[in-house]
Amino acid sequence: MLIAGNWKMYKTPSETEAFCAQFEPPAGVDVVICPPFTSLREAVAGGVTVYAQNVHWEDEGAFTGEVSAPMLLELGVSGAIVGHSERRQHFGETDETVAKRAAHALGAGLGVIACVGESEEERESGVTADVLRRQVAVLEPHDRLVIAYEPVWAIGTGKIATHDQVQEAHALIKSLVDVPVLYGGSCKPDNVEPVFAERDVDGALVGGASLQVESFTAICEAAARIRS
Ligand code: PEP
Repeated sequence: MLIAGNWKMYKTPSETEAFCAQFEPPAGVDVVICPPFTSLREAVAGGVTVYAQNVHWEDEGAFTGEVSAPMLLELGVSGAIVGHSERRQHFGETDETVAKRAAHALGAGLGVIACVGESEEERESGVTADVLRRQVAVLEPHDRLVIAYEPVWAIGTGKIATHDQVQEAHALIKSLVDVPVLYGGSCKPDNVEPVFAERDVDGALVGGASLQVESFTAICEAAARIRS
């Protein structure tokens, strides 16, 4: 099981140091922290495995505001999230740019957590499978690629998908590309166990609950327990 904490735009470098000083990843689970770019150095120094929240598809160039794979690698960063729904919603990320970011990062030696997932309207109109097929189709299989199934309606809403919805989506994704699939969307210590028990769930991408050492540790411990 892999548990990744997406800190979004939270935690300064000193807050990151404080988190890492307190956090001890439990045995029996792989743990990744994804802080903002400005806190990557402190997270790496804290001894955890660190992914960035985005990465560009060129090594360098006139791309103001972007960060490249060689820049991350030199800091000791191990990978990057690509295609998070907040980037698709607010920053114009498309399936094509997600594909370019993922392919370049994997080629450069980084791990990648590529996010996919349907909106509430898409689920209600019965096109979830079509959306997932379209988003996954642009991703090439790779041994450092992980997909995170994150239904947009479950992110930051407190509304976790049912374990049946999660299993169905994960099985579909795995039938399209044979890589580990994480679930993301309102994971909390008191709701993750039924999701973790599903056959095709290989871990979680955790937003809000990854910001406190106690709740993130509890989720990591639940993952370690379920497969022990
Ligand atoms: C996320 O940011 O990827 C996420 C799943 O957030 P939350 O756990 O807060 O819903």
